[in-house]
Amino acid sequence: MIDLHLHTTASDGRSSPESLVREALEAGISTLAVTDHDTTAALDSTAAAAEAAGLAFVRGIEITAVHQGRDVHILGYFLDAADAALEGFLTRQREDRRRRVREMGTRLARLGAPIDIDGLLARATSAPERAIGRPMVASALVDAGHAGDIAEAFDRFLAEGRPAFVERAGATPADVIGLVARAGGVASLAHPAKLGLDALIGPLASAGLPAIEIFHPDHDDADRARYSEIARRHDLVVTGGSDYHGPGSGRTSGLGRVSLPAHEFERLVERARRPDRSHA
Ligand code: AMP
Ligand code: ZN
Ligand code: FE
Ligand code: FE
Repeated sequence: MIDLHLHTTASDGRSSPESLVREALEAGISTLAVTDHDTTAALDSTAAAAEAAGLAFVRGIEITAVHQGRDVHILGYFLDAADAALEGFLTRQREDRRRRVREMGTRLARLGAPIDIDGLLARATSAPERAIGRPMVASALVDAGHAGDIAEAFDRFLAEGRPAFVERAGATPADVIGLVARAGGVASLAHPAKLGLDALIGPLASAGLPAIEIFHPDHDDADRARYSEIARRHDLVVTGGSDYHGPGSGRTSGLGRVSLPAHEFERLVERARRPDRSHA
């Protein structure tokens, strides 16, 4: 099985790189990619653990871009994590995540649901290579007794349009696609059905988007069929994975629930070998 969408404790996953590799081995996965939000901090340790376990490892990331006030997740594969422009960009993204979490804390206090925001931010600041985000705020809400579980914390407070949701300011999807390409990576539009902005795909393909995520636990058969057709029309490579966030993360997807067919993975590898001139 090939799973190209996994999170670790470097962002909002619950599994350390070492546990993730153990879990992947048990789930029968042979090739895995770590795609943490806005950080590459777990790539070296996961690569080492994967190699020791005899699993193939792909360096990845999931970058949050913004289109008209809405989050657009762009996956990147086979990129050079040491690329200076990428590194600088990700450092700013993580700073903005901390700013945003502080603002969520202020709003939650005003809403009568205070959490230990200083403790949360102190931990985040002491490990700036890690990306903080709403799942940590959701956990704090559960710990403080303001929500029964993570899902309820999102539904009541943190989801888009809910009272503690803080809009992001950030790079556009086209900017991020260019950034990934210049770092030698292949960008893929993450879980487009969750996004619900199909009209964006054509323009992004024209702007150099090379791939799209079709295999994802939130995609049903109809979604897969629709995005396969869109991928064919725009000549996009297909990616996929479980978007696993570890045990107890409040999400339903388990490791090995979704697998990318081997021939699609081969196309992705081919695409990564072919340097993209449009962003050079
Ligand atoms: P952020 O990076 O701060 O925008 O937080 C986004 C992350 O929150 C996603 O990648 C998911 O891991 C998680 N998430 C979003 N919605 C939910 C939800 N309804 N229940 C549990 N986790 C969620
Ligand atoms: Zn996440
Ligand atoms: Fe995502
Ligand atoms: Fe993800």
